[in-house]
Amino acid sequence: ERLTRAGAGEVERAAEAALRPKGLGDFIGQPQVREQLSLVLDAAAARGKAPDHVLLSGPPGLGKTTLAMIIAHEMRSQIRITSGPAVQHAGDLAAILSSLEEGEVLFIDEIHRMARAAEEMLYVAMEDFRVDVIVGKGPGATAIPLELPAFTLVGATTRSGLLPAPLRDRFGFTGHLDFYTVADLQTVLVRSARMLGMEASETGLQEIASRSRGTPRIANRLLRRVRDWAQVRGTGVVDLPAARSALEVYEVDERGLDRLDRAVLSTLCTRFAGGPVGLSTLAVSVAEEPETVEEVAEPFLVREGLISRTPRGRVATADGWAHLGLTPPDGTLG
Ligand code: ADP
Repeated sequence: ERLTRAGAGEVERAAEAALRPKGLGDFIGQPQVREQLSLVLDAAAARGKAPDHVLLSGPPGLGKTTLAMIIAHEMRSQIRITSGPAVQHAGDLAAILSSLEEGEVLFIDEIHRMARAAEEMLYVAMEDFRVDVIVGKGPGATAIPLELPAFTLVGATTRSGLLPAPLRDRFGFTGHLDFYTVADLQTVLVRSARMLGMEASETGLQEIASRSRGTPRIANRLLRRVRDWAQVRGTGVVDLPAARSALEVYEVDERGLDRLDRAVLSTLCTRFAGGPVGLSTLAVSVAEEPETVEEVAEPFLVREGLISRTPRGRVATADGWAHLGLTPPDGTLG
């Protein structure tokens, strides 16, 4: 099981859906984004208007989909969910837009992966609540304008810098989600354990929280793996010994690095002498997509201070070498 991937199977999705907070008040951590969003929502409600379009950026598993659903919930409206990769033709988007109802939320996950032609259609839809349906081909083609009901677009992206400026500028508000503190993750886990009817100790949950890469999705996933261990090999209680043993089985180290994180770090150190090395070279060496390395592994390794980005490429830090128990070759650390 890949612990870091956003894409997940059926069982995984069902488990996630069960634990999603419904209202803004249940959303743990991220105080800034929560406050900003509640202002946007309350002000729109007071004016009796659909709120401005919202862009949410941050690594996978930090709560972007959850917030989109919360926005719809707080607006007492419905949500339509799609993703950039699913919108490959302008026609796909036109079909979705033209079926929206007044005040609905349209959530586009991975909005940076949308096809170019659809992007331009989206600009007009966001600004003027209109789509131009093109009828015919070549010089005889005509654009027939179609009015849309007012809707709120919520876009999610792993990094807002991936979006073309004209699209970014059409969002009234951008919320940046950052990795969670251990204390916030522990609160997430206490809530999850309670909802799932698990018996858990404080130190057990704290151990899971501190090894969850600052990510609620991973925390909830590890919680279920630790429960498995507790039921099959332990006392049935999610406690510290169960957490330590289960996390060893699933190759999550004391600092929360998973197999991909460690592969990236150790390849950087051992094959490339600590760097600098370009992202695509690094990705090929660990047999992963460059996007996965850049959007999933790298942000966490950078946040932990184990690697750094330089204009010439990725470099292992002294802390990165130390984490692997290795000594850097002389003169590579500047
Ligand atoms: P993203 O869309 O950013 O990849 P999700 O919104 O799908 O992340 O969140 C993944 C899981 O983590 C959800 O099932 C949800 O239960 C949990 N989660 C995320 N953020 C929070 C939070 N702030 N409080 C509680 N649970 C959260």
